Amino acid sequence: MRWTILCCALLAAGCAQELGDLRLSDEHQLAEPKLEFLGVAGVLIHWRGEGVLFDPSFSRPTIPELFWLSPDTDEIDRRMPPADDVTMLLLGHGHYDHALDVAWVMQKHAPQAIAYGSTSAIHMLRAEIPRDRLIDAQPQMATLSDTATPVMQAKDNGWFYTRERHIRAMPIQSMHAPNPLTPLMSGAYSEDLTQLPKGFWNWKEGQTLAWLVDLLGEDGRPVYRIHYQDSASDAPFGFIPALKDDKPVDVEILPVASFQNANHYPEGLLALTQPRLVVLVHWEDFVGGTPDDPKILRQQKDVGTFIERVQRAAPKARVVTPRPLSEVALAPVTGH
Ligand SMILES: [Zn+2]
Repeated sequence: MRWTILCCALLAAGCAQELGDLRLSDEHQLAEPKLEFLGVAGVLIHWRGEGVLFDPSFSRPTIPELFWLSPDTDEIDRRMPPADDVTMLLLGHGHYDHALDVAWVMQKHAPQAIAYGSTSAIHMLRAEIPRDRLIDAQPQMATLSDTATPVMQAKDNGWFYTRERHIRAMPIQSMHAPNPLTPLMSGAYSEDLTQLPKGFWNWKEGQTLAWLVDLLGEDGRPVYRIHYQDSASDAPFGFIPALKDDKPVDVEILPVASFQNANHYPEGLLALTQPRLVVLVHWEDFVGGTPDDPKILRQQKDVGTFIERVQRAAPKARVVTPRPLSEVALAPVTGH
């Protein structure tokens, strides 16, 4: 049964799609603060001498390679921007297009980084990364209340701080909108692995997390507040919890992939956060190909419709769909 689903899903996957009238931003060498889009759902931000890195993914295995995966270390080494200052690596979920390259990036490019992820994702990474560089963030995630109308509630100790306390991050209970392959890639690990998974179906999702990230000023207060999701989710999964401060969300980083399979996404989230900037990620095809000639994710329809819906739901926001390996400026914050 499982293999029937697998074969059908791969046969139905089709081809990557041309960009058509999708307009991409393509900026480079911008002044800080800025966000670097690494491709897939990967994002890098430098801030006050530290850095935060989300879901770095460069490998782009082809369909045959999905059955015996290993990180494409040459490609990672060619594409990964400098990340010596990265002290925090945040992982949304365990699928290979988010987690396959993490161990190599931590070993080779971000030697100071501590990775934060779900219990299951941390069990996977322990195959290659020492325990003191991995933190299971799941026990501290904000969770939905068990009430008729669920509300997202933060834990008292919900924030993780970087070493210099210039950046902090809060994990939030989220979920992964279904696609034809997700039934094969669900589940979670409850023990440490001794080697990273080979078959793509063994890169198990685990608990999917959204992240609320604050870039902090010298006074310890948030200058930029960023909300990040690496998979589309049904409302209210991934929503930010009510916090004691009144700092609004400045930046939403949202995935396009499978948006049509998530309820009230992105409208529910954007109605709550009303950001100034929305950066759309996880829109390009990552099965083979190259980030130099990006195509739209196979089977992903109506990207233009999604962008219109984002703009309607966040009318004050600048909405940007960046080309892989390009930059997006973080506009100055006023009134802080
Ligand atoms: Zn996924």
